[in-house]
Order: sequence, then C-alpha cells, then structure tokens
Amino acid sequence: MILICTVGIIVVVALAILAAFMFLPRLQDRLFERLAARRLAAAPALALDDKSLQVYLCGTGSPMPDSSRANTCTAIIAGGHIVLIDAGPGSWTRLAAARFPAHAIDTVLLTHHHSDHIGDLGEVAVQSWIAGRRQPLDVKGPEGTLEVVNGFATAYTLDAGFREAHHDACHMPPDAARMIPELIPTPAPGQFVPVYDRDGLRISAFLVDHHPIDPAFGFRAEYGGRVAIVSGDTTPVPNMVFASMGADVLIHEALNRSMVGMIASALAATGDQRRSDMLTDTLDYHTSPGEAAEIARKAGVSLLVYNHIVPPLPNALARRMFMRGVKDIAGPVKTRIGEDGLLIRLPQGTKEIETKDLL
Ligand SMILES: [Zn+2]
Ligand SMILES: [Zn+2]
Repeated sequence: MILICTVGIIVVVALAILAAFMFLPRLQDRLFERLAARRLAAAPALALDDKSLQVYLCGTGSPMPDSSRANTCTAIIAGGHIVLIDAGPGSWTRLAAARFPAHAIDTVLLTHHHSDHIGDLGEVAVQSWIAGRRQPLDVKGPEGTLEVVNGFATAYTLDAGFREAHHDACHMPPDAARMIPELIPTPAPGQFVPVYDRDGLRISAFLVDHHPIDPAFGFRAEYGGRVAIVSGDTTPVPNMVFASMGADVLIHEALNRSMVGMIASALAATGDQRRSDMLTDTLDYHTSPGEAAEIARKAGVSLLVYNHIVPPLPNALARRMFMRGVKDIAGPVKTRIGEDGLLIRLPQGTKEIETKDLL
C-alpha cells in the first residue's frame, strides 16, 4: 500500500513538472537558455592546438543516394589549420554538426571536378566566412579549377553582398568572402607536387587514374612524422602504392563491383535499361575494396579506411558483402568502412591511431 502511494505521488509530481514546462513560457525559456549555455560552453570535440595529424570524414558517400552519407569530403587538421579535400554535396552539414572550428578552414583541395566532389564548395566558402575566417579561401585543384571556382563565386556574389550589407565589415571582412583559385601542375607518375606548407603541415598532390576525367589527383598529408593519404576517385594504379608508401592511414575510395552489378541487373529486369547501362559504366573507373586492400598491403599502410562507398550499405548484411574477402588480401593492414563523422587522430612521435565518432 505504501509502495503504491509512493509511486502515485512520484507520478503526480512528474506530471506536474511536465505540465509546468509544457505550459509556462518562463520555465521553457530558462531551460532553453541553460541548455544552450551548457552546449556552447562545452569544449569542441576537435582541438585545433592538438599536436597530432587529424583526419575527419565529412563525407563518405558517392553519387548513389544514401541518407547516412554526405558526398565526398575529408578534412585534414594539423598545426592550427584545416584543409578540406573535396567538398561534396551535404558535407558542410557534417562539418557543422561536429561543431567544427570552420574559421580555420583556409584551403580546399579538389581531387577532380565531378559534382559529388565540388557541390558544397560555395557553402564551405560562405559558412567558413560566417564562422570567422578573415582571409580569402584558397582553392587548388587540377585543370578546370579556375572555371569551377569562378562559377561558384559568381553564384554567391549576391549572397556575399547581402551579408556585407547586413553585418559590419569588422564581423564579415569583405575580402574574406573571396575564393582564390590556383591550378596544381599535373605530376607525372612517381612524382609529388607540393600544394600546401604551413606550420608543419605539408600536403602534396599525386596523379591517379579516373579516365576520362584527366587529370585527377590524390593527396598525401604529413605532419609531425605522421602520414595520411586521400585517394580521390581512381582505378587501382601502381602510383597509389608509390604515393601511400609507409602511410599511417589511407582513405581510399571503394566500389564493390559484384554488388553494383547485381543492382544493374535488377534495374534491367525492371525495364530501366538506361539506368542499368549508366550504372554499369561506373564499374571501370573505380577501385574495389579488395584492390584497395592490396594497395594498402603493398604500401605498408597501417589503417585502410574506405570512403566514396558504392553502393550504399543500409545494414550489416550489405556491409559484410562489401567487405567480402578483404581480410585475406589486407594481411596485417587494419581495414574499416568509413562513416561520416569519424575522426582519426595520429599523435606525433607515436605509432598510435585513435578513432572517435564526432556525430
Ligand atoms: Zn569522380
Ligand atoms: Zn566521385
């Protein structure tokens, strides 16, 4: 009897508190204020002064629709700087959701100009400006980069004017709205072209093969003796082994041909021969999970992380099919499917690789 009374009192009190919050605006405001203050006071998950090379996956998807993945984007964080490699559609939201210190994004490197790698370039430029970037944004990439950057700049000219009119120049310095495009000279196989060198963070471009998209690049980032590679879109080429030699982490694109082939067959069976043919066309300019594992093993990479995942992997069964046979090929290389929000931390002077989900 005492127990029933106690439970009854607790339920009544809980309902009274709930009703108070539902119907009393002052209480709602106080709660909201408190929660906002607590969230904003919390230290960001990503520290810019961290003495490590960090890699954040801001987009691990591909043009095939996948609600769990933004299109391709990888952030390199070191020496107080953030460099984005590609800015595919939806990737800005993955940076914002992780409360990224976006003011520190000073450069975007483009592997090539497929839409799934450049679609959020305008958003990255305007949002990093809003976040406090005070210098123009450097954008470097292969042939065509000037046209791409100028196109985005034109599309965002009105937006920049609106913001300058609405805020003062101290908060939104007009010069920082600009993007400065720069062409990266095409390296020969077996060569690197330096593209970034600030406060110990050095990044070089190397050639990959995404024919008929020529040239297309991958990037090698080095800081404090640690190395991370981003493949961009490519078929499996010997130059990927050369460029990845001894790296701590290789972020490599991957397309599972047998799964994509099954989807193409299913499309043909439903009478959609056009989409079936177009999907089949994608098979010859990407790398399979097994081929990427072989590259990683030959290069002596410690950790291989797949991105640009094709096809979408909605459940554990699909993930298992995607990774079929990889372990046997990879040998001592650790492998995993990349997910949006994954932060990989490589502390200086160690061989450690730490991972954390920021979303
Ligand atoms: Zn591509
Ligand atoms: Zn792509």
